[in-house]
Amino acid sequence: MATNADLMLRQQLVERRHQLEGAISVGVVSLQVQKLIREVDAALSRMETGTYGLCDVCHEPIETDRLISDPLARLCLAHLTPNQQRALESDLELAAKIQKGLLPGSHLHFGGWEAAYHYEPASIVSGDYCDFVPAQNGDFYFILGDVTGKGVAASMLMVHLQAMFRALIPMGLPLPELVEHASRVFCESTLPTHYATLVCGRAADSGEVEVCNAGHLPPLLISEGGVMQIDPTGLLLGAFCDEQFTTSRVRVEPGQTILLYTDGLSEARDSSGRMYGSDRIRELALRQQGSQPKNLIEICLKDLAAFRKDVPAGDDLTIMTIRRSAAS
Ligand SMILES: [Zn+2]
Repeated sequence: MATNADLMLRQQLVERRHQLEGAISVGVVSLQVQKLIREVDAALSRMETGTYGLCDVCHEPIETDRLISDPLARLCLAHLTPNQQRALESDLELAAKIQKGLLPGSHLHFGGWEAAYHYEPASIVSGDYCDFVPAQNGDFYFILGDVTGKGVAASMLMVHLQAMFRALIPMGLPLPELVEHASRVFCESTLPTHYATLVCGRAADSGEVEVCNAGHLPPLLISEGGVMQIDPTGLLLGAFCDEQFTTSRVRVEPGQTILLYTDGLSEARDSSGRMYGSDRIRELALRQQGSQPKNLIEICLKDLAAFRKDVPAGDDLTIMTIRRSAAS
């Protein structure tokens, strides 16, 4: 495990011990509190002897994201008791339910725009961030991001990102400033090894779209004439605390579509290890020019399934489409 994660876990344990001592000092004396203090002390002393984070049974490292969510964990997944396994499963199911509840609804019409998305975790919860947020002046924001890693730790950061953008958007900041704020808060509140790639766009009823692309795969603008990439305009989100971002502007005509995706699509592999690839996405987008947002996603998923066959998904997958209605 990285040294930074070790330091964070130690800090968490020390803080937990202070809280427990605090509980005793205000008169909460229970066997449970005393037992927890003993467990925290034992974890701290395992850190001293270098055995912290190793499974009591097989002595192999315990999964890092599990340690982050429970620094007192003493068994790897394979060696949990049946009761512990059931408790973990129901925790994860609840986490998945909460994450699902944070996703945008299915009726996605914003003025003269129609949108759709597909959100699919590689396992139970996802580190992808997908959101649509209406602005006060009738514009709307679309955001697609991908946090480093996957699983529980990544999903916690995804929720953090969502809360931040939801809080910042109503402030009406210019788009580069919005992303700079988000990047700073994200950088200050996570491990140095954690960052995100992210596209944050603001679309106006007039068809003007401003896009800030923080190191994410380029969104595609699909029109009759071809497919155009909207290239990154900045580095990763949260990689440095004082990062500056710029934006690019595109004009989307009625009938044109913006397609965004995470690397769960472009880096999907078939049984021979071949990658799905961004060229295949561009070609498919060009052939499907004029498709409704939902249909375009369905066709993408069908093509991905035909490519991957029975190879399981290796990464979280999100696809987003936004189309300017022909009628507006
Ligand atoms: Zn084990």
